[in-house]
Amino acid sequence: MSVAGLCQICEEARARQHCNRCGAMVCQTHFDREHGMCLDCARRADPSGVEGDTYQL
Ligand SMILES: [Zn+2]
Ligand SMILES: [Zn+2]
Repeated sequence: MSVAGLCQICEEARARQHCNRCGAMVCQTHFDREHGMCLDCARRADPSGVEGDTYQL
């Protein structure tokens, strides 16, 4: 039940970014610019918040 144009995390704000990992449309609040991913993916890919080669695609 996704509404096009809305952030897939909060479903309130308008999505302006798109996650490079899962493809979700998310608002700027829930987008990690540093990783180019939604916060959900960024947290999974990098739980410690430190950059590294820990991506599991
Ligand atoms: Zn959001
Ligand atoms: Zn994502």
